Amino acid sequence: MNNPYKIINELIYEYNLNTKEAIDIENLIKKMNIRLVIADLPLGVLGACKVEGLKRMIVVSSNVYNEEQKRFTLAHELGHILIHRGTHYFSKEDFNIIYTNKQKEDEADRFAVELLLPKSSIITIINENDVSFELIKQIAQRYKMSLTATAIRVAELISENIIIIYHKNNFIKWWYKSNGDIFFYEKYEGINLTRIEQEKNIPSRKVELNLWLSEDEDLYSCYEETIYFNKLNEYITLVQII
Ligand SMILES: [Zn+2]
Repeated sequence: MNNPYKIINELIYEYNLNTKEAIDIENLIKKMNIRLVIADLPLGVLGACKVEGLKRMIVVSSNVYNEEQKRFTLAHELGHILIHRGTHYFSKEDFNIIYTNKQKEDEADRFAVELLLPKSSIITIINENDVSFELIKQIAQRYKMSLTATAIRVAELISENIIIIYHKNNFIKWWYKSNGDIFFYEKYEGINLTRIEQEKNIPSRKVELNLWLSEDEDLYSCYEETIYFNKLNEYITLVQII
């Protein structure tokens, strides 16, 4: 059974997890009798796991300092253990990692997102509040997740029309669009972001709809908001069409 939702619901029930706040993932792993080890892993590898009979182990790289990254790595590896049980992620020489396939990686990532940002709790929050980076920051803090991961999760679950665009040097690194009912013409594919990047941080403001939407629909209002990541010289922009 590869259904992460079913596995997570069982975990919530069995370990009485409170999905209204960040779950204590390390404690959960401990309660599940999974050994947790911090060790040096090859560069670029954040975590690994191993299942051998009844013995289960998760390894987190000693290079992972950031709590959000550690939580995600733990949840991802827990996903591998619970979804792909019996699969070995190490070869016989313990730290010689065999890379798994893309599908398994996607499933482990999905498991991690579902566990760390539980759907029903996040939907409740976004239904009760106006969406902005301030709200996304609050959710990120409450669930101990990164702003970016939280922004994507909100866009994934919201029924309004929003787009999250991650950009740098007038180049879109990635974007994520919600399932809102407006058909967004993909104008933002070739959009000029210099206008935004010159301003760095932009509080939410109403802008001309045709800056973001090719169709001129008088029915809608358009809002944009940007956070500038100083260290990375990168930007995340939230566009809302209401
Ligand atoms: Zn993995």
